[in-house]
Amino acid sequence: MSRPHIVIVGAGFGGLSAAHSLAGAAADVTVIDRRNYHLFQPLLYQVATAGLSPAQIAQPIRSILRKASNVRVVMGRVTGVDRQRRIVKLEDREIAYDTLVLATGARHAYFGHDEWESVAPALKNIDDATGIRRRILSAFEQAEQTDDPEARRRFLTFVVIGAGPTGVEMAGAIAELAHVALRYDFRAINPRDARIVLVEGGPRVLAAFPPQLSESALRSLKRLHVEVRLGKPVSECDERGVTIDDERLEAATIVWAAGVASSSASKWLGVEKDRVGRVVVGPDLTVPGHPEIFVIGDTAHALGPNGQPLPGLAPVAKQQGAYVARLLRARIAGRTAPGPFRYRDYGAMATIGRRAAVADFGWLKVDGTLAWLLWGMIHITFLIGFRNRFVVLFDWLWSYATFQSGVRLITGPDSH
Ligand SMILES: Cc1cc2nc3c(=O)[nH]c(=O)nc-3n(C[C@H](O)[C@H](O)[C@H](O)COP(=O)(O)OP(=O)(O)OC[C@H]3O[C@@H](n4cnc5c(N)ncnc54)[C@H](O)[C@@H]3O)c2cc1C
Repeated sequence: MSRPHIVIVGAGFGGLSAAHSLAGAAADVTVIDRRNYHLFQPLLYQVATAGLSPAQIAQPIRSILRKASNVRVVMGRVTGVDRQRRIVKLEDREIAYDTLVLATGARHAYFGHDEWESVAPALKNIDDATGIRRRILSAFEQAEQTDDPEARRRFLTFVVIGAGPTGVEMAGAIAELAHVALRYDFRAINPRDARIVLVEGGPRVLAAFPPQLSESALRSLKRLHVEVRLGKPVSECDERGVTIDDERLEAATIVWAAGVASSSASKWLGVEKDRVGRVVVGPDLTVPGHPEIFVIGDTAHALGPNGQPLPGLAPVAKQQGAYVARLLRARIAGRTAPGPFRYRDYGAMATIGRRAAVADFGWLKVDGTLAWLLWGMIHITFLIGFRNRFVVLFDWLWSYATFQSGVRLITGPDSH
């Protein structure tokens, strides 16, 4: 009997976890990704704010999976799926599957204002992060060069839109860059004059966390001199700044951290999707009526124990990937398949600068330095899960502790 062919699209947290767990299974596995690397997105903001370099948070997919001899890696962009012929379409070829796992993640959403994307870039991949880093560092350079006080103020104003974990982390890290890392590097300007404004349409920062942790995050942001504007949405965004409600704020650097939408998987499949475009899947993460198609991670709408859709988080995607692999191994071996997918929620964390974080483990809520140490330990553990532990641990701690200047490079085309 020929071995089944399992095609996994996307080597993010979900797809990679499925591929890892299928290593050595009696199946041929093909992992397709448009990029050649797996990215640890939770630390992307560190690349955008010149804290870490891209290679510290990304690794080639091929090298991660090199020991899994039944897993093949294909670099290519998927453009569609033919459910009837069981074919995945790439730009230049087609790949047939017996079982398909779609794990293509999410992209940013501008709530009907796609024209804002060029002036307020979002953070999703390495190119976004190095582009934002270029904008931030160039703004300091331009402020140093101009004699016009108004232009200088504009160059030294940084607006982050959206106060979820990414927005809070970005704002805190820009503030630390200005107040600590760059403090002795300029002559005409004082980087500490930089104004960092975090704008949130809702009533509090980190809305998904308990109110007491939102309050603690707000205090930490204030300590870092971040101005937080709550309850007022951005109504206009252009290359000279933003309008918040009726107030105009001139700013040379704007970062979008406000919304995500699912990948194109639901369009490829032509099946039911939710409000943000996620594919609605059954309790075993298959598409209803298609036991051979699984959708996992950020691109899936799967229900949690409380009847609410599971959040777009790395642990959700990882656990779903491992579950699908378990289910497929059982199918291949002719064993009873495991029961429905159950998410184990170990808590959520967000960091605000180098000494503050908030962590919600349900039974325990922690903030301040203790939460920050926990955040660091957990991220190091997960980050180095796929690379040489000691090298990355050392690199990461060194750059984090010393604000190393090596990554404060302006590369690529001019941004201002
Ligand atoms: C800036 C940022 C910070 C975050 N911080 C945290 C955090 O602190 N904690 C946390 O738990 N979660 C965090 N998340 C969310 C977390 O990263 C996601 O929930 C997780 O990555 C989802 O995993 P996934 O496998 O579904 O998708 P992803 O990890 O996004 O992977 C999707 C993969 O699919 C590939 N792909 C997409 N389209 C195609 C195509 N057409 N053809 C081929 N390949 C394709 C992509 O290249 C990518 O490799 C953060 C996300 C971002 C953007």
